[in-house]
Amino acid sequence: MKNMESKRIREEYLKFFENKEHKIVKSSSLIPFDDPTLLFTNAGMVQFKKFWATDVPLPYTRAVSCQKCLRAGGKDSDLEKIGDSGKHHTFFEMLGNFSFGDYFKKEAIEWAYEFVVEKLKIKEENLWVSYYKEDLETKKIWMKFIPEKKIIPLGEKDNFWGPAGDTGPCGPCTEIYFDFGEEKGCKKEDCKPGCDCERFLEFWNLVFPQYDKQKDGRLLPLKRRGVDTGMGLERISRILQKVETNYDTDLFIPIIKKIEEISNFSYEENKKNFRIISDHIRGIVFAISDGVIPSNEGRGYVLRRLIRRASLSGLDLNLKEPFLYKLSNIVIDLMKDVYTELSQNKEIIEKVIYEEEERFLYLISSSRKIFFDIVKKEKEAIDGETVFKLYDTYGIPKDLIEELALKFNKKIDWNQFEIFMERQKEMSRAKSKMGIKLNPILISEKILETEFVGYEKIFVIGKLVSIYSCDNLYYLVFDKTPFYPEKGGQIGDRGIISNDKFKFKVLDTQIDE
Ligand SMILES: [Zn+2]
Repeated sequence: MKNMESKRIREEYLKFFENKEHKIVKSSSLIPFDDPTLLFTNAGMVQFKKFWATDVPLPYTRAVSCQKCLRAGGKDSDLEKIGDSGKHHTFFEMLGNFSFGDYFKKEAIEWAYEFVVEKLKIKEENLWVSYYKEDLETKKIWMKFIPEKKIIPLGEKDNFWGPAGDTGPCGPCTEIYFDFGEEKGCKKEDCKPGCDCERFLEFWNLVFPQYDKQKDGRLLPLKRRGVDTGMGLERISRILQKVETNYDTDLFIPIIKKIEEISNFSYEENKKNFRIISDHIRGIVFAISDGVIPSNEGRGYVLRRLIRRASLSGLDLNLKEPFLYKLSNIVIDLMKDVYTELSQNKEIIEKVIYEEEERFLYLISSSRKIFFDIVKKEKEAIDGETVFKLYDTYGIPKDLIEELALKFNKKIDWNQFEIFMERQKEMSRAKSKMGIKLNPILISEKILETEFVGYEKIFVIGKLVSIYSCDNLYYLVFDKTPFYPEKGGQIGDRGIISNDKFKFKVLDTQIDE
């Protein structure tokens, strides 16, 4: 078995199946174009889903692709595993060959074996396979190549695949494993594929879609049964490059080197933070390139979380200024030959990352220390009252509290938090019924109305037109504002008002009808 570069693995794979009359199809966007049930493209089959389930005319009956995938939100998210695991990713590339009503189990298995043993030169003795326990047809085909004791039956959880969203094609699957040898494993007698230890690495999953799952859960026969396979490029690269984890392959080394260069920390001593940053930056670059912009919901929120988590890991490496944007070029250089859109979007990718990083670092600069000081004495969970204090007294937004809690391995009692929140709302309702008397301190200008610009911007430069006081609190009136007032059951926005001479903490925003 020779060391093989990831670039060559991609090429060999596409070429191998092209020679078996497969059409090479370009990776589709990370944003699924016709599947509202799916946040991101999470497998090679997503762009072909309709070819199995409906009567659409087929442009080809065999296809092969290298698909960009993101699993960072929704039910298949691997986000929490990143850092500790050397084999999971949010963004990854999936090599896949597909049949739409064309070949089925026999050819799929024979070709997979041929590719692995003859093209990749993986030794037969390192191979194990699993199959769905009721799919004896698959077992029989494997017995031509693999000793029976290395063909393992697994249940529905592991070897029945799909659907990718809530409905659509699904069916039994068979997985191919690489055996790193007994000494890498748990050494238990019943250690075999499916075991939690590090001995076996699943690197290729061959799915046989033969059912079409309905909204009510029924499994109907697929109009066109077929084959849908997925091989993680990062994992097969790790095997062929004979390295310890996916992060030690040529897909990650240049990114890790760059982080070492800008941080002056070493990967060996800071594996978790380096893995989070190098994993997330790939997802960040590809998501922005496919048109996602950081926001507070849906895909934009997933992107925002990736940037925030990578930034937090950067802070652990003493990277207090924006740095992720500098890594985007490395990712683009590594991938631009395969994904040509990256070069065209280079500037916008860098700009979006920089702006989001800068904003996050501003938000986090005070919050992180306060959070840490307050929660360090708490054990595993942070009680609702403390969370409320972080939110109410220190003005740390809820999603940031959540992010910091994850970072410091603490759980949060949100139910209790809601009770404190409700209590505060009642108090402020009672207060506004009583009416408060404001003492004017400065009125430089009378205005009829403050212009609200919060739908477009969260930072804005406004003109201070009057100041009032009451009970040691100050009330400032501006000509325009991004702060949303208490209205329609929603509480007023909080934040900061500052210029180079003063800084005000905004505790509440009220409207004077
Ligand atoms: Zn084991």
